[in-house]
Amino acid sequence: MPDAAPDPATPPTPDPPSLDVIVSLAKRRGFVFPSSEIYGGFASTWDYGPYGVELKRNVKEQWWRAMVRERPDIVGLDAAILMAPKVWEASGHIQNFTDPLVDCKACKQRFREDQLPNDGRCPNCAAEHSMTESRQFNLMFGTHVGPVQEDAARAFLRPETAQGIFVNFENVLTSTRRRLPFGIAQIGKSFRNEITPGNFTFRTREFEQMEMEFFVQPDSAPEWHERWIDLREQWYLDLGIDPNNLRRDVHPPEKLSHYSAGTTDLQYRFPWGWDELEGIANRTDFDLKTHAEHSGKRLSYFDNDTNEHIVPYVIEPAAGVDRAALAFLIDAYTVEPDEKGNDRTLLKFHPRIAPTQVAVLPLSRNEKLSPLAQDVWTALRPHWITQYDETQSIGRRYRRQDEVGTPLCVTVDFDSLDDQAVTIRERDSQEQVRVPIAGLVDAVRDKLGF
Ligand code: ATP
Repeated sequence: MPDAAPDPATPPTPDPPSLDVIVSLAKRRGFVFPSSEIYGGFASTWDYGPYGVELKRNVKEQWWRAMVRERPDIVGLDAAILMAPKVWEASGHIQNFTDPLVDCKACKQRFREDQLPNDGRCPNCAAEHSMTESRQFNLMFGTHVGPVQEDAARAFLRPETAQGIFVNFENVLTSTRRRLPFGIAQIGKSFRNEITPGNFTFRTREFEQMEMEFFVQPDSAPEWHERWIDLREQWYLDLGIDPNNLRRDVHPPEKLSHYSAGTTDLQYRFPWGWDELEGIANRTDFDLKTHAEHSGKRLSYFDNDTNEHIVPYVIEPAAGVDRAALAFLIDAYTVEPDEKGNDRTLLKFHPRIAPTQVAVLPLSRNEKLSPLAQDVWTALRPHWITQYDETQSIGRRYRRQDEVGTPLCVTVDFDSLDDQAVTIRERDSQEQVRVPIAGLVDAVRDKLGF
């Protein structure tokens, strides 16, 4: 069949903005600041500012809503970051959680061997064939627990949240009386001493993960794996990611981790190219079996139908909060001409992701307008993430709200004092409608969709 002609109503997907543009907007508008900046910063660490923290919370809340609250078969967990060191022996992290490290003999820079270009040149100083033999570098951050610095007190900051779920499998099973299939979901910080962090918040040494382990009958694992790939992809699309910027990458067998019988990544078209957003793996029964072996505890499930103990298989969608937030930020970034032909920069966030959902803007800073505008703000505050701003001209305030991605602005003007009505302005269409204050909450709910 010939390819369908492109739909003229759908505009083509623009190229992603440059990363510099995103980093500078993020800093200027209060999404992400370099960490410890007044001391010159600290390598590849970032702090989320007032807009960034709301963006990140929204990402986590939408994930939790889709993965836990709206599902009949998944429960949540919040395990400790510090775990018994034996966990990491059993999981294979002490043995296997390594990257191949090489040094350039000319410039002394360090690289991950598997990320070097094929031309045999150092990406930093361009020296030819200057790399040392590679050696395995373990990515776990070590620390000491308590006041003694001896080996017995050595511990690790968790490099993934998943192991906290596996070691609590039995606790969750018996306390909540779950039947297969069921899942356990967790959001939390993880730490990896990455050899080459970079690309802004894409790869950092401290980051947040959203992971869910879905326990299934072994023979249904391939089917559940496919289903979770579909569900996770749909989650990004439902929250507004352009389908042309999202794709699947099926790992070939030789690229699979030691525990995996199949992994598909969801990749996003970042400014530097396609890169991993989330991995969905079939982890088989590796984790429960290895923890049973190392702990001496039985980690199995009693199947009432067959009267047998079985070890479930596990399907794991593992996403990064920071990477998802970055993808939403990049995807939302839009520059289009305004009515005067000037460039208008806006972030077209989905309303559920937007760090401010409604801004209340009195037409000007005026003692007659302020009390009514404050009342309007008070009425909206319990329902959505809101903001009140009465500085600068109304035009500039609209532009500022566009640039932080606020879907709706509510303007209180002098007519409002008489007609008890306000104007709702939409970010994307810039359309304005007049609504009575008494019906404002309903009108906003209607427009936002929640
Ligand atoms: P990569 O190949 O990019 O190093 P990975 O395959 O090791 O990642 P996983 O162990 O599958 O990553 O972790 C699941 C998710 O956690 C990733 O898809 C990513 O979103 C996030 N993540 C992993 N490492 C980092 C990091 N250093 N910084 C930010 N997010 C990360």
